[in-house]
Amino acid sequence: MNESDHTVQNDQSCQSDHDPQSLSVDAAWARISSEIQAVRGVEQVALRNALDRVLAHDIHSPVNVPFHDNSAMDGYALRGADIPATGTSGLRCVGTILAGQAMETTLQQGECVRIMTGAPIPAGADTVVMQENTRVDGDQVVITAGETPGQNVRAAGEDLRHDAVVLRRGQRVRPAELGVLGSLGLVEVPVYRRVRVAFFSTGDELRTAGSTLRAGEIYDSNRYSLYGMLQHLGVEATDMGVVSDDPDTMERAFADAASFADAIITSGGVSVGEADFVKQIMNRLGKVGFWKIAMRPGRPLAFGTIGEARFFGLPGNPVSVVATWYQFVQPALKRLMGEEPERPTGFPVRAGEELRKRPGRTEFQRGILQRDDHGELFVTSTGSQGSGILSSVSRANCFIVIPHDSGNVPAGELVEVQPFEGVMA
Ligand code: AMP
Ligand code: MG
Repeated sequence: MNESDHTVQNDQSCQSDHDPQSLSVDAAWARISSEIQAVRGVEQVALRNALDRVLAHDIHSPVNVPFHDNSAMDGYALRGADIPATGTSGLRCVGTILAGQAMETTLQQGECVRIMTGAPIPAGADTVVMQENTRVDGDQVVITAGETPGQNVRAAGEDLRHDAVVLRRGQRVRPAELGVLGSLGLVEVPVYRRVRVAFFSTGDELRTAGSTLRAGEIYDSNRYSLYGMLQHLGVEATDMGVVSDDPDTMERAFADAASFADAIITSGGVSVGEADFVKQIMNRLGKVGFWKIAMRPGRPLAFGTIGEARFFGLPGNPVSVVATWYQFVQPALKRLMGEEPERPTGFPVRAGEELRKRPGRTEFQRGILQRDDHGELFVTSTGSQGSGILSSVSRANCFIVIPHDSGNVPAGELVEVQPFEGVMA
C-alpha cells in the first residue's frame, strides 16, 4: 500500500487519537526533508541585496580584520620595555595619531605618542596605556609601574584572519552577517537564486476581502497568513487567489503553478471528503502522498511533487495552516533556499495552569509565555484551542508543544515552549 492509500478512510477515524496509520511529526519531517535539496542556481548580488538570502559558497576573508594592529583605548602608545619596574617614569610625547591616520616614523626608546581608539599602533610601539592612568608634565607623559607590556592592542586579524573561512555556504545572511561581509570590503556575494513559491486557497465558501458575504461564505484568511509568513522568509511569493472546488479549475491552477514555481502551497481540500477529489487531480499531475499526521492542529497534510515543484497541501483550518507551516513548510522551504534547517526547537518552562491534552498526538497549543512576580517564566494557554480560532495565534507568543504520549499536563509541570520570535521569522 503506498502512502496515498493511507488517506483517512472514514470520519470515525478522526475521533480516535491513537491511529496506527498516522505519521508522527518527526517521521513526517524525516520524509519531507529527505526529498528536498537546495535549488540549483547561484547569483552574485550587491552586498545589501544579500540580506535574508543564503550564501552559495564559503566566504574567505580577502584581508585581515582589523587590517592593522590598533589601539583599543584612548591613551599613549609606547614600548613595553619602557614601563618602569617600580615608581614612575617620564616619556617624551612625539605626536598624536587619530583613527584613520598613521605615523610614518618609528617610535624610539623613551618616546610615546598620543593615540586614539582604532588608530594604528606605530612601528616600534607594542603597548597602550590608557589616558586615565597617565599624567602630563611639560612635554613628558608620566606612567606608573604596573602596566602590562602588550596591553590594549587589538592585533591585526584578531577578528578575521586573511584567507580564513568567515561564513559557510548555507548560512543565511542576517544583519550581523551583512556587517561581517561589509568588514571584508566585499562588494558582491554569491547567493542561491530566489525560491519561487506559488500559493492559493481552495474552497467554494471563500470570498476575498472587499466582497460582501452571503450565507455560508467566509473571508479567506489563509492566504494572508501565508503571504506574511512567505514574505518574512524571503521567498518570491506569487498569490494565485482563491480557487474553487471545481476539478477543471483546480487542475489548471496546479498546472499553472507548477510551470514556474519551486514550491506550491495550498490550503484546504485535503481533509476527509475533499481529499478524494484532489487526489484524482494529483494522480494525473504528479506524485503526492495524502498523510494523516498525529498532531493537532494540522492532522491532514498532502506532500509530494507536481512537475518540478514540491507541493504542500495544508489543511484548511486557519490555525492548522500556521502550525503545519512552522513545523514542516518553513523548514522545507529553508532547505530549498540552501539552508540546513532544524525543525523549531523550544525550551522547558512551568505550566501556569493545567493544560488539557489527549494522548496519541503531538499538540501545538497556543500559549502565553510570561514572568511571575519572582521573574520566573511560566506559560498559560490562550484558551479555546479550536483549529478555526485564528485569534488564538494572534494572542499567543509561543506554541506549547505537548508530546505524543502525554495526557493532561498538571499545573506546575515543565512543558516545552517554542517562542514565536525566532521560530516564526
Ligand atoms: P477544508 O480543509 O477545506 O475542509 O477546510 C476546513 C475548514 O477551514 C473549513 O471550515 C473551511 O471553511 C475553513 N477554511 C478553508 N480554507 C480557508 C481559508 N482560506 N480561510 C479561512 N478558512 C478556511
Ligand atoms: Mg475546503
